[in-house]
Amino acid sequence: MIYSSLSPISFAGELPEEVDAVVIGGGVIGILTAWFLRQAGLSVVVCEKGRVAGEQSSRNWGWIRQQGRDAAELPIVMDSIQAWEELSKSVDVDIGFARKGVLFAAETEEDLARHEDWLTVAQQHQLDTRMLSSREIDDLIDDKPGQWLGGMYTASDGRAEPFKAVPAIARSLVSAGGLIRENCAVRALDIAAGNVTGVITEKGTIRTGTVVCAGGAWSTLFLGNLGISLPQLTVRATVARTSRGPNIYDGDAALGEVAIRRRQDGGYTIASSNSNEHFVGADSFRYFFKYLPALKASAKFISLQFGDDLVRRLLPTRSWSADEITPFEESRVLNPEPSARALVKLREGLSHRVPMLADLAFEEFWAGMIDVTPDVVPVMDQIPKYPGLFLATGFSGHGFGIGPGAGRVMADMVLGKTPGHDLSRFRFNRFYDGSKMEIGPGL
Ligand SMILES: Cc1cc2nc3c(=O)[nH]c(=O)nc-3n(C[C@H](O)[C@H](O)[C@H](O)COP(=O)(O)OP(=O)(O)OC[C@H]3O[C@@H](n4cnc5c(N)ncnc54)[C@H](O)[C@@H]3O)c2cc1C
Repeated sequence: MIYSSLSPISFAGELPEEVDAVVIGGGVIGILTAWFLRQAGLSVVVCEKGRVAGEQSSRNWGWIRQQGRDAAELPIVMDSIQAWEELSKSVDVDIGFARKGVLFAAETEEDLARHEDWLTVAQQHQLDTRMLSSREIDDLIDDKPGQWLGGMYTASDGRAEPFKAVPAIARSLVSAGGLIRENCAVRALDIAAGNVTGVITEKGTIRTGTVVCAGGAWSTLFLGNLGISLPQLTVRATVARTSRGPNIYDGDAALGEVAIRRRQDGGYTIASSNSNEHFVGADSFRYFFKYLPALKASAKFISLQFGDDLVRRLLPTRSWSADEITPFEESRVLNPEPSARALVKLREGLSHRVPMLADLAFEEFWAGMIDVTPDVVPVMDQIPKYPGLFLATGFSGHGFGIGPGAGRVMADMVLGKTPGHDLSRFRFNRFYDGSKMEIGPGL
C-alpha cells in the first residue's frame, strides 16, 4: 500500500508556539531524528507537507541492508539495524522486521570480483558477510538452479514493511510526547541576525532555534529559496507487489536484473535493477559536471528521460515569499506514474531469473522519486550560513535501512554530542571545497 494526498490525515492538531526543534519532513529520516531528539528530552514537532512516509519512505523495497554499503555508512547502518530490532519490539504493530539475509548473486567473474573486494570492508567491521558458491545459492533460492557463479551474502541483514514501519514509529514518537503535523508545509525559515529563530508554515509560525531539514526529493528546492545550492537530483524507480506466491527465499535478493523481497503477506516486492529514470530538467544542467562521474559509473542502470513537460522543467526554479502558496503545498505527496517500460522489464526479469514467480499477478505497482547526490552518499551536516539549520538528505536509494542510525546521528549533532562516527564523508561542503568526488557503491 502506498500513500497519496487522498489518504486520511493521521497526525493533526494546533501548531505549538515554540519548540526546541522543528523537523521538516515526515519520512524515515525526519521521524527518526525527531524520535531520538524526543528521547533526549527535547520538545519537537515534525512538519510534513503531505502524509507521514507518503514519499520514498513507504515506496521503497524494504531492504535493511548492511552489505555493499559505502565504508563510511557501514558503522552507522550496523547501529541502525540494531535500532530497527529494538524499535520493532516497542511499536504498536508488527512491522515485519526480520533478519532474513541479503544476497547479491553474481553471474560473471567480474561481478564476483567486485563483491569480493567489498569483503575487506565487512571484515574491518566484523560483519558476517561471506561469499557463497554456486551450490550454496541453489540451496538458498529454490528456483532455477545453476544460473549463478556465486554471490555475496549477509545473513544478519534484514527487512521490514515500509508502509507499516515509519507510521508505527511516528505513533511511538507521539506517545512519547513528540508532535507531528501533516498537511503542514514549511514555507520558509524565520531568520534574525543570521540565526534561525523559527519556521513559517502554511498554518503559522513556530519559534525555534533548531531546524532539521529532512525533505528528501524536495530539499534542493527548499534550500534554494534560502540561497543555498544543494546538488541533488531525482530518479524515478518503479516497484510492484505480487499476489501470494511460493516461498522460494525468505530474504532480499538481487538476482541480475530483478530484485525480490518476500513480504509479510506472502507476496513479493519486486523491482528491476536497471530501469531507473532521471527526467532531465534545469537542475540536470546546473549540476551536470558534479554528476558526470556518477553518470559514467551508473550509465547502464539509469536512463535519461525528456518527458512531455520538459519545457516546464527547464524553467528557472521558483522562489517565493513566506506568505505565498509554495510548491510544497501544490504537491502534497509526490506520486509519480510508474514506468510502463519498467513493468515490462520486471515481468521479463521474473521469467528469466525466478520462473516460479513469473505468473504471479501484480496486485499493485507504484513509483518513487529517489533523491540522489553526486557521490551517492547522503548529506548529514550543519549549514554554516544559517546557525541552527541542519540537513539530512540525499540518501540515494538506501535511506530506509540506515534511517534509525541516521536519525541518531542527526539528533546527536543537534545536541552537540561528539559523534560516535566519522561524519566527514557526509559534509555539505564536499561539493564545493574542491574535493574529488568518490562515488559510493550505488543506489
Ligand atoms: C523505489 C524505491 C526503492 C527503495 N528501496 C530501498 C531499500 O530497499 N532500502 C533502503 O534502505 N532504501 C531504499 N530506498 C531509499 C529510501 O526509501 C529513502 O532513502 C528514504 O526513504 C529517504 O527518507 P527521507 O525521510 O529522507 O525522505 P522521504 O521519505 O522522501 O521524506 C521526505 C518528506 O519530506 C516532506 N517534505 C519535503 N519538503 C517539505 C516542506 N517544505 N515542508 C514539509 N514537508 C516537506 C515530503 O513530503 C516527504 O514526505 C528506496 C527508494 C525508492 C523510491
